[in-house]
Amino acid sequence: MVAIPGGEPLLHPQMPEIVAGLVARKKYVYMCTNALLLKEKLHLFKPSKYLSFSVHVDGQREHHDFSVCREGGYDIAMEGVHAAVAAGFRVTTNTTLFDGADPNSVRAHFDELMVAGVESMMVSPGYTYDKAPDQKHFLGRARSKKMFRAILSNRKKTWRFNASPIFMEFLMGKKDLTCTPWGMPTFSIFGWQKPCYLLQDGYADSFKELMETVEWQNYGTESGNPRCANCMVHSGYEASGVNYTFGSVTGLLQTAKAIFFSTYEDEGAQKILNEWKPASHGPLVQIASPATQTAASLQEVSGD
Ligand code: SF4
Repeated sequence: MVAIPGGEPLLHPQMPEIVAGLVARKKYVYMCTNALLLKEKLHLFKPSKYLSFSVHVDGQREHHDFSVCREGGYDIAMEGVHAAVAAGFRVTTNTTLFDGADPNSVRAHFDELMVAGVESMMVSPGYTYDKAPDQKHFLGRARSKKMFRAILSNRKKTWRFNASPIFMEFLMGKKDLTCTPWGMPTFSIFGWQKPCYLLQDGYADSFKELMETVEWQNYGTESGNPRCANCMVHSGYEASGVNYTFGSVTGLLQTAKAIFFSTYEDEGAQKILNEWKPASHGPLVQIASPATQTAASLQEVSGD
């Protein structure tokens, strides 16, 4: 499996060839796109079970636009979703939540995505660490668990998720997992990023070198590394959830129960939803170009 991360990887002029090459090798490709160019570049790709556009949508219109600092960003993302679904592509979504997210709105967002024909959804808290200059939009672990308990309990049968059930239980505070930083290694033109997608403590020239030279005991929440203290992100913990599932019979049985029988009914979670007071985002800061900007001018801006 290969995940191509966004912003907008469709800015890369050879992306259709790169994807075609991966699909020809029978690699499952998840291309994370903010969908700015998805609609107009769709014709350069062929629908395949190996290719999924993972559209970045952080919530309903107001929340997503605030999150990406782009008025009209939600409408562009959903236009991309509709166009890709109509053209027969596999379409999934990825949603990152920071402090200020409203669990009631996130649940309504899930309903909207399912109605739009999205195959499945992925959700993760944003990356947070103690020394970051902007703490006010970060979710600490306790607040993350409370928010995800509210969102993911009393689950609707219509919702489909593209995530390990155990990782989702971890987000809800029902499971303890330790980070697997090498579970989703990041490769770029600089090499293999040490130790994970989020931190940049140098690069290795090969995966072998990455595995052998990183001092893994210095990473993960239990390590005491302040940059890992509040981290619960997908790229570090999804692999841990999968490992839990396949590491024992108990893990397999718990996962099967989670998939087939559990809607996570929880009166306390419903109470949290009922009492949740949405925080004001404050004014949206538009840092990107207008929503109507063409692909040509976007490429000009990016230098491609
Ligand atoms: S906890 Fe894991 S994924 Fe998160 S920053 Fe640390 S090493 Fe990276």
